[in-house]
Amino acid sequence: SITIGKIFDLAVQKFPDKEAIFDVRKNVRLTYKEWDHEVNKLANAFVQAGVKKGDRVSTFLFNTEELASTMLACAKIGAIFNPINFRLGTEEVAYILEDAQPKIVVMEQALDHVISQIANRFGEISFWKINGEPSSYAASFQDKVASASDRVVDSDVLESDIYAIMYTSGTTGRPKGVVHLHREMAEQSLIVIAATRLEAYDVGLVTAPMFHCAELHCAVIPRIHVGASNVILHHFEPKKVLQLIQEEKVTKFFAAPTMWNMLLQENLNAYNLESLKLGLYGAAPMAPALVRACHEQLGISLVQAYGMTEMGPAITFLSEKDQLTKAGSAGQACLNHEIRIVRPNENGPSDPDDMMPAGEAGEIIVKGPCMMKGYFNREEASQHSMHKGWYHSGDIGYLDEEGFLWVKDRVDDMIISGGENIYPREVEDVLYEHKGILDIAVVGLPDDSWGETVTAFVVKKDPSLTEEELDQWCQSSARLARYKRPRKYMFVDALPRNASGKIQKFVLRKQMEEIYTGEKA
Ligand code: AMP
Ligand code: MG
Repeated sequence: SITIGKIFDLAVQKFPDKEAIFDVRKNVRLTYKEWDHEVNKLANAFVQAGVKKGDRVSTFLFNTEELASTMLACAKIGAIFNPINFRLGTEEVAYILEDAQPKIVVMEQALDHVISQIANRFGEISFWKINGEPSSYAASFQDKVASASDRVVDSDVLESDIYAIMYTSGTTGRPKGVVHLHREMAEQSLIVIAATRLEAYDVGLVTAPMFHCAELHCAVIPRIHVGASNVILHHFEPKKVLQLIQEEKVTKFFAAPTMWNMLLQENLNAYNLESLKLGLYGAAPMAPALVRACHEQLGISLVQAYGMTEMGPAITFLSEKDQLTKAGSAGQACLNHEIRIVRPNENGPSDPDDMMPAGEAGEIIVKGPCMMKGYFNREEASQHSMHKGWYHSGDIGYLDEEGFLWVKDRVDDMIISGGENIYPREVEDVLYEHKGILDIAVVGLPDDSWGETVTAFVVKKDPSLTEEELDQWCQSSARLARYKRPRKYMFVDALPRNASGKIQKFVLRKQMEEIYTGEKA
């Protein structure tokens, strides 16, 4: 049985003295053998605390060695790993704890203000703090580990056992716990290794949040799988990223589009980035203009991943060679994956056999070996989203004649104005090419005569940028029909994003709604 624990054990056997992990904040470096020692201690500490196979262990941590170690310790003893988004507020965390019912939560001292407000509601959960003083409700993680045995844990974990429950970012509604098996993640890892040509000599940098599947499953686990090393940056800081690439001779890393954008704003000439071979981007749409800018200014190869937590996440890759010729596409189906575009159905899940011809947009559905087992405690939602064995993504897109996928937008973000469907991404991509724009989101706002009006939220790079100039830019673009042009521009300081870099358009819509209803009242 190939489990995540087994994948780690094999890397330890093969590369005992190779650097496995460097936690930048702690300034601690561990070889594979040293890391295994730590992970065994942690696994024994969990067992001592009463954690059994199938029990949940949550983390509420920034990017840390402890997050990765908890994941591996759980894998070794068959506990279910549940990484919680560190950006969530008190009630959102409480919701997940109620749903997942973990035995232990490994938490960050700096996030104490969230947990301290709800800990008394969860008397049956043990909270282990990774740094800082223990408190009335939290024990010291370090103490628990220090007193645990370092003997190798006996394991009867199977590849058909549950590896993790990951709560989706939930751009709408309550978060749902995505249940993945060991086998699914081992498959995902192999697929990523092939697509990003990972090898033992690679040095990876962790910059995106590790609780999210994009970083954990498309970067961290594949690196462990091949015996590469992970440099862990506690949170994204553009200057620090560039400095670490230079100092640690980083070869490959993943970053969300917004992070790439921030890197390009830095003085890149001040750093030696020669070691860098490949950048992986995804988790949210990236404008072709930004992809081109990364190519030109960083001079590296790029690979795009498109996917969703439910699928492990990657379901397509846009390879290095196709970056410029197919700019804007999400690429081709991953190995062993099958993608279809089907007619969307407003009254239920779309029919997997009602396929759209090449070039025509519909719902993206997918089948593959990394598909989730289902949503935790949500039988109905699971059946709905995995109707007839296909995962129904809720994303709209089309396949071109060559089988490349073009993701247009979320079904929920599509704008219907004057009866015409408008995909915000098309408008965003055109506007993003304007040099005066740093960041952009296009949303539909309710309008009495048009149904919805196209509205652009713009973060300026050039402070003198005007609405007239942007409207002129859209008018002169051959790619933007008249009805797609924004009727309104809102200049803002920043856009609301979730931790994986996705713009939260529902927040923008809600803000505007409040302004409108305020005006009317
Ligand atoms: P999550 O639930 O956080 O896994 O997010 C999944 C969603 O992110 C997908 O359904 C897409 O809407 C979006 N997404 C992920 N990767 C990409 C990409 N490369 N291009 C466009 N959208 C993406
Ligand atoms: Mg989702």
